[in-house]
Amino acid sequence: MRYYSLTDHSIVATFKQAALKGIAPDKGLYFPSEIPQLPASFFRDIAHKSEATIAFEVIRPFINKEIADAELYALVSDVLNFNFPLVSIEKDIYALELFHGPTLAFKDVGARFMARCLQALVKDKKEKITILVATSGDTGGAVANGFYDVEGIEVVILYPANKVSSIQEKQLTTLGKNIKAIEVEGSFDDCQAMVKRAFLDEELKQRNLTSANSINIARWLPQMFYYFLMYKELSTQDKPIVVSVPSGNFGNICAGMLAKKMGLPIAHFVAATNTNDTVPRYMQQAIYAPKQTQETISNAMDVSDPSNFIRIQELYNGDKEALEKDLDAYSFTDEQTLATIKQIYQANDYIVDPHGAVGYLGLKKYREQVQEDFIGIFLETAHPVKFPECIEGLLGVEIEVPERLAGVYQGEKQTVGIQTYQQLKDYLLECKS
Ligand SMILES: *Cc1c(COP(=O)(O)O)cnc(C)c1O
Repeated sequence: MRYYSLTDHSIVATFKQAALKGIAPDKGLYFPSEIPQLPASFFRDIAHKSEATIAFEVIRPFINKEIADAELYALVSDVLNFNFPLVSIEKDIYALELFHGPTLAFKDVGARFMARCLQALVKDKKEKITILVATSGDTGGAVANGFYDVEGIEVVILYPANKVSSIQEKQLTTLGKNIKAIEVEGSFDDCQAMVKRAFLDEELKQRNLTSANSINIARWLPQMFYYFLMYKELSTQDKPIVVSVPSGNFGNICAGMLAKKMGLPIAHFVAATNTNDTVPRYMQQAIYAPKQTQETISNAMDVSDPSNFIRIQELYNGDKEALEKDLDAYSFTDEQTLATIKQIYQANDYIVDPHGAVGYLGLKKYREQVQEDFIGIFLETAHPVKFPECIEGLLGVEIEVPERLAGVYQGEKQTVGIQTYQQLKDYLLECKS
């Protein structure tokens, strides 16, 4: 297994090189040179396998022995030490709750996996690595938590000022130690543009910068685990499985589609977006035309030019017709999202967060388009308690804060404010610790 750059296929890297660099020297995203095929026996026995065994068997071919088997197995068991329950919402519709990790974000799995891989890959090296990451909401907290106090790794997180929720901001600005938060005057896309530029900046080479966004293969690939763990729960029923993924940068859904290519029996995917609808418009009109990013209540999906969509296209060799057979994409407004949060609460006594609500809407819309029966799963990507401003008034309830989150309310916010790329660069060059 090697990883090639999507811009120039002759540029190749090992797992370690790709995980450490994040992005290829020509700015391309790395993509696996082969799609491993899991044997039929893997799926036949899946209900009897442990979560760690499933994850280990899925990820092993991608690591190519660069981390020894025993260490890799221990690593994935540690990453997956919380639950991923499949909760029945209504007939044939389930929420796959991905928010039971330490920061209540589905990104905990990717961030924890990546942190532990980097630690394993560089443990005999002396030099320090700096993780530079842009976040539109949840990534920052998950990365900060995943890397917190990991020796030899410093984390610098960029986030758009006033555009993340108060809990999200607390999660990424209050840890201290090796975690530094930078508040950028601008949008998530501006943050991401600065990060991309820093990676290409010769003068920053000595800082050993690497990314922890979903473009990094070590964060992107472990997201496959959710889909396999979900299937473990559903392997004995025989209706087709349709999964709706609330999507922003399209890393999560791309991992699901890679899982399908490895043999996982998922019949169809729905990409559900907020009004940042570049992909739904592309699927309809065959023109990829990002617009200005819009702010929505599902702010972790406020992305107008999703980096990982190019990986989805690569999975289908650029064949749009083949892609259409496996994927539908729809966008929804904030009004639809709020109405859905209310409706699910009233009808089913279940509170979805704004991202999950968009996923649910995607399933409902797909159901209108097709005749056949299916089991629909939407990914519930964040805990609703992270969005008290929009949910509590709407439903007239107070959402209980899980214990593992209560601590962040006490911490002091520590950030550096910047407006330009030059300020980021100066910061990275000056800050040694
Ligand atoms: C990051 C995130 C998403 C979108 O995931 P992508 O992989 O960027 O498409 C959806 N919901 C929440 C809560 C997120 O944090």
